[in-house]
Amino acid sequence: MSTKKHMSLPAQMGAGMLLGILAGAAIQFYAIPTSYFQPFGQLFINLVRMVVVPLVIVSLISGAASVGDVGRLGRMAGKTLIYYFLTTAVAIIIGLLLGNLFQPGAGLNLAQDVASVKVSTPPSMVKVLMDIVPVNPVESLSKGNMLQIIFFAVMLGFSLSLCGEKGQPAIAFFDSMTEAMLHLTRLVMYYAPIGVFALMAVAVGRHGLGVLLPLIKLVGIMYLGCIIHVLLVYIPIVRWAGLRPAHFFRVLSAPLLIAFSSCSSAAALSSNMEGVQRLGASRSVSSFSIPLGNTINMDGTAIYMGVVAIFAAELYGVPMPFDKQLSVLLMGILASVGSMGVPGAGLLMVTMVFTQVGIPLEAVGIVAGIDRVLDMARTTINVLGDATGAICVSKLENDLDPERGARMESTL
Ligand code: ASP
Repeated sequence: MSTKKHMSLPAQMGAGMLLGILAGAAIQFYAIPTSYFQPFGQLFINLVRMVVVPLVIVSLISGAASVGDVGRLGRMAGKTLIYYFLTTAVAIIIGLLLGNLFQPGAGLNLAQDVASVKVSTPPSMVKVLMDIVPVNPVESLSKGNMLQIIFFAVMLGFSLSLCGEKGQPAIAFFDSMTEAMLHLTRLVMYYAPIGVFALMAVAVGRHGLGVLLPLIKLVGIMYLGCIIHVLLVYIPIVRWAGLRPAHFFRVLSAPLLIAFSSCSSAAALSSNMEGVQRLGASRSVSSFSIPLGNTINMDGTAIYMGVVAIFAAELYGVPMPFDKQLSVLLMGILASVGSMGVPGAGLLMVTMVFTQVGIPLEAVGIVAGIDRVLDMARTTINVLGDATGAICVSKLENDLDPERGARMESTL
């Protein structure tokens, strides 16, 4: 008889990450091409992204259909948006404060020539709002335009609930598809340890410690900002919701590891949604707030905007009085809303902030060298922020039920 002592999936992913770091060091040392490892990592990202659009559409339709009451839907959306806005603002303020305090760019001297950088311009508010309504929902699905998908799915789910008897078969269909997509997510996760291994090997292989050293202070401040944000914002919310932080992090370890290793919060979306449901968040809240948060709530990216703006201003001797820092705050919120959950998105969006306060865009090139390490932290915080939001809104809606979540866990 075999003793069935399997390593848990998060443990396997953790092992994958450590082995990946070692492999990355070997890649650097022996100058092995990273292209040997890259496809294995890319395969993982493709697999997890494959799940996202179908999961979001079916689970949101079934979630919205189960809410059924437009007042409740509106309340839920309102609370979610307020949570996102406030936590993002706090994140940028933490970034700015740490930047001012530690002056990461002071003393660095710049004479680098940097290739031309693409500038991101802030989208106008009217355009952002108009773009939420899809002219062709099928096109939104094929393009993976998350805000449009969310809008359409919520409207359709709500309409189904208004259909009474006639809506029931379709609601049952979407309920069952939601189940299937969650199972598909679990299947895909079996590949995660290999995917994480390959992604880490490539990241470390390309940007080894040597590249990091001159910018280590910036990296340290960014990570410190993330830890402060977790301690100041997430842990108190998790405690207030009646969950133990250790349990919270343990259940979310899979999405957090995916975020950290893939630098894509979109890749962690389905696993994050499953995680918060296992913690007890209701399906209706989590299927709404996790995909929405994935698109517009980026606390990690916001911390980064604050820290990097100060860093770059110091590099180029651009003065940063209070009013300029205030515009970093506002632009940073817009930029983090506009960032997509893909690797390096924050690096592109930071050009918006730089342009606004007159920082030369060459600064982007300097930060780009270590962006992967910064991206790991910000993506992890982005994902954690969405999870905390789902827990917070579930609690506010009196719909947080850890026992329901525990039952779900035992079916895994
Ligand atoms: N990579 C981040 C994410 O997926 C976005 C960013 O670059 O800030 O959440």
